Amino acid sequence: MQRVLNLMREAGARPAHEKRLLRAWLAGRALRSATTARDLQFPRTLLEALPAIESHLNAHVRIESEHPGSDGSLRFLLALHDQKTVESVLLPRDGLCISSQVGCAVGCVFCMTGRAGLLRQLTSAEMVAQVAAGRRHRPVRRVVFMGMGEPSHNLTNVLEAITVLGTHGDIGHKNLVFSTVGDPRLFERLLANPVKPALAISLHTTDVALRAQLVPRGPRFEPAELIALADDYGNAVGYPVMYQWTLIEGVNDTDAELERLTELMQGRYGIVNLIPYNTVEDLPYKRPPTERARKMSQHLHQHGVLCKLRRSAGQDVEGACGQLRARSLPERAAIATDA
Ligand code: SF4
Repeated sequence: MQRVLNLMREAGARPAHEKRLLRAWLAGRALRSATTARDLQFPRTLLEALPAIESHLNAHVRIESEHPGSDGSLRFLLALHDQKTVESVLLPRDGLCISSQVGCAVGCVFCMTGRAGLLRQLTSAEMVAQVAAGRRHRPVRRVVFMGMGEPSHNLTNVLEAITVLGTHGDIGHKNLVFSTVGDPRLFERLLANPVKPALAISLHTTDVALRAQLVPRGPRFEPAELIALADDYGNAVGYPVMYQWTLIEGVNDTDAELERLTELMQGRYGIVNLIPYNTVEDLPYKRPPTERARKMSQHLHQHGVLCKLRRSAGQDVEGACGQLRARSLPERAAIATDA
């Protein structure tokens, strides 16, 4: 964000002007709209520089294509200044899912994003720009860092984006959701941040060996230890932790998993989010039958564990994160070869 602020300062902006301009940008409004209030005079140099500042801000992400889903979601393929692409999704009920990296080093076996490895980190400005772009379409009151990338692997930039969104972006702190496979250094950093987001832990299994297969370059946490650390964070900030469980047929939908999960989650300040896997053409995993997912959810409820069974928003617009981008790459290569 520093470059954005420098541009404003070089044109004569003082902190109050920066704040107004940032708020207008993050709200998806034209910068000019920030200059009309009578209580704050904008210097002429700054007014003259506004079109250039605005183009710089809006160039962080450019919408390449839009893919509406029948559930009200709207998925974007976004081009960055270096022509790399990421995805974001406007979710039903004023949510937005954004990306924090181009690619991802974790390599979850069921995810298209993880297949190419990490290409680069997103800057904090590229993350908040996804919110500004989303808000130019419709209101956004909740931002989840669940798109491409593992936020804890780009922690400084993600925390800066969270701080900007929670301070100038008009988003309640518990409506900023940091989604992670877990990282030993993470919990302390989150607690020290001025804006403390809600936490979503990608758990997927209670079996350490299976987790090492499913999340190959994730941290080697004992699930019980990971849940305990997340639970401490949830209690400290006062919002429940979400435990994400991508439900894959024959892999983590067994009775043994369900029993262990029930036991580990009892008494925790959290909610299990069961997310039936979106079957992807190139990957060997399958979505379990709806009835099985429903039974698992009922079992957790009956044993005092809060649980949501999710119909993944955007599943009919290419499914999970990374698929739009994966599909666009051969097309881009073809365009480059034709040129
Ligand atoms: S699911 Fe998330 S953490 Fe895993 S590879 Fe995909 S983007 Fe990375």
